[in-house]
Amino acid sequence: MPPTRLFIPGPTEVRPEVLRQLTRPMIGHRSAEFSQLFQRLQPRLQRLFQTRDRVYISTSSGTGLWEAAVRNCVRSRCLNLVNGAFGERWRRVAMANGKQSVAVEAEWGQAIRPEHVGEVLEREAVDAVALVHNETSTGVLNPLEEIAEVVRRFPEALLLVDAVSSLGGADIPVDDLGIDVCLTSSQKALALPPGLALASVSDRALARAQEVENRGYYFDFLVFEEYLARNQTPTTPPISLLYALDYQLDRILAEGLTARFRRHQAMAQIVCNWAEERGFELFAEQGHRSPTVTVVRNTQGIDVHALQAHLKGCGMAIADGYGPFKGSTFRIAHMGDLTPAEVEEVLAATDDFLRR
Ligand code: PLP
Repeated sequence: MPPTRLFIPGPTEVRPEVLRQLTRPMIGHRSAEFSQLFQRLQPRLQRLFQTRDRVYISTSSGTGLWEAAVRNCVRSRCLNLVNGAFGERWRRVAMANGKQSVAVEAEWGQAIRPEHVGEVLEREAVDAVALVHNETSTGVLNPLEEIAEVVRRFPEALLLVDAVSSLGGADIPVDDLGIDVCLTSSQKALALPPGLALASVSDRALARAQEVENRGYYFDFLVFEEYLARNQTPTTPPISLLYALDYQLDRILAEGLTARFRRHQAMAQIVCNWAEERGFELFAEQGHRSPTVTVVRNTQGIDVHALQAHLKGCGMAIADGYGPFKGSTFRIAHMGDLTPAEVEEVLAATDDFLRR
């Protein structure tokens, strides 16, 4: 049986040639061979993140770097921008790490309004602003450029961006926007297996870490920095995943970032058009729709579980709605290395189901 093709918002499909990298023999993580591998990764990670900042490699999923970002960059209080499940959870993580949090909220399906961020920053002193760029629960792509412009007016506030389901699928010019921490996970638009998280960290963020207490150890930026200087990670890294990252970075950069973003946009457009032509509505407001995941309102009242079972029989998977929106929405992801032709296939199979 061929593996199920995943149109779910992570983990995404990993191409067989990338998967094969996982079977390469181990090397010691304090060996010269490892340092060469690590050193080779840095410049290409910087190209991927469009930054001159260092990019840390963390043996964790993205959630670990949520903790890292708040533990290192927030002295006492942060502003969390919340318009979906992941924004809400990052806020919970900040508070679980002993930080105070104020929030700017928008209804699920709506984008964060930059002017609301400005209003709160005018009256509240915060150490950082935490934004989920692409809300995987709702399919909303928040207006990063406009929000970054607002945050830049408040020099004490660092900008922390969760690009877990957007980096590699949407344009995020980290340096141009002045993002202090941009974090992502391997299992989304980078089309790698889960288990790695990556973050670009600015000099400003590193200077902040020096004055913040209780940073812990595993996610302490200063420890990451110390080992980066030796082309090493502080703890034993998942070497197999780094082989895959090494290989996949070449594939991503060979495609070209602009071409990759265009491919994601094209896939999103195909899914949006398909949904609207069949009388479904889209959950995310117009003008703020994600290039990596489309959330469809189940306005036709279809049995989403029966659709998923039908697709499974065709060797494909899509996702149910998130949390409270299970059944009333469904999610079709189009991220990573998927192609428009593969997206057309899952939609054709969905059409077969709708005609039954
Ligand atoms: N942020 C966003 C936007 C996500 O979609 C997810 C997971 O789906 C996370 C954070 C959590 O990432 P991880 O599962 O890699 O810890």
